[in-house]
Amino acid sequence: MPPNSRATGTTGVLYEGDTAPPTSVIQAPKKGGPDPNHKLELAWLNITLFTVLHVSSVYGLWLLFTAAKWQTFLLFPAALVLTIIGISGGAHRLWAHRTFKANTPLRLILMFLNTLAFQDAVYYWARDHRLHHKYSETDADPYNSQRGWFFSHIGWLCCKKHPDVTLKGREIDLSDLRSDKLVMFQKKHYLILMPLICFVLPTVVPMYYWGESLNCAWHCFTLLRWCASLNIVWLVNSSAHMYGKRPYDKSIAPTNEAFLMWFRVGEGYHNYHHVFPWDYKSAELGKYSRDATTYFIDFFARIGWAYDLKSVSTEVLRQRITRTGDGTHPVWGWGDKDQPQEDVDSTTITHRRKETAVDS
Ligand SMILES: [Zn+2]
Ligand SMILES: [Zn+2]
Repeated sequence: MPPNSRATGTTGVLYEGDTAPPTSVIQAPKKGGPDPNHKLELAWLNITLFTVLHVSSVYGLWLLFTAAKWQTFLLFPAALVLTIIGISGGAHRLWAHRTFKANTPLRLILMFLNTLAFQDAVYYWARDHRLHHKYSETDADPYNSQRGWFFSHIGWLCCKKHPDVTLKGREIDLSDLRSDKLVMFQKKHYLILMPLICFVLPTVVPMYYWGESLNCAWHCFTLLRWCASLNIVWLVNSSAHMYGKRPYDKSIAPTNEAFLMWFRVGEGYHNYHHVFPWDYKSAELGKYSRDATTYFIDFFARIGWAYDLKSVSTEVLRQRITRTGDGTHPVWGWGDKDQPQEDVDSTTITHRRKETAVDS
């Protein structure tokens, strides 16, 4: 079955060149079920490992509040956020979507953080993610949300891929990644780098620097950190393709998901991201883009390590919201108290009158 044949809600958008607006009548994405012709084959090793990981992480959470040293407790959120940035800032915004460019030191930092997050090598992560954007909500989407919340969250890692994922995966252009020496280095040495950076290092550092016990370091700083980061990132594939609003394009499944916005590590504005995947903020300007990943990129842009940051102009944004949004965009118009200052500053006002009247 060819991709896109069972779903109506695909963006088909990956890069700027793919921005052809939807031509058909806009309608909410249809809920589809699993492909009846596809036999599900479970991956029992992954199922076992993920079960052990989640049970161990619950124990780690208990240790974090009852037995861990205060340094472990206080530094845990920072370690978690940095781990997530390895995916959101590194694999996602830098390598999968090329929303900005980075110099070698920043690329090394992001590659280190990405390996700390252990979600497979950047090369494979970016390939799957480009597929996800190109064939959203079809069998060629590795985390196809039409197969249910559980499948798009973790289930897709617990069974063999649908043949369409493999088939269409071969057609995705990865030449930019293949010519990236750092990406290929990580891919080649992943089985050495990943255990060292994701498992050995986060266990040894708390033990060496502040005398944490092996039990707490392993269960809190290593397993709980990794497990929490996985689930937060997976929520973007599951919840943010089901629950929430669609202010930018109501014809696609991805949503702006309140829970993920609250987390503020990035990617909560998933409806926006699927419409404008080349935007380095993964959100509009102003209060929408106040998340840890964007702050991280902005900081490095300020010191010149990140550059060529791509954004969407206010005018394009307004046209798109009006044309395809579901009407839930929170700004009703000029003068709305929620209108970001950046929008106000970047608006062109022509035919201005001399400031004699009280109107504004
Ligand atoms: Zn998505
Ligand atoms: Zn994306």
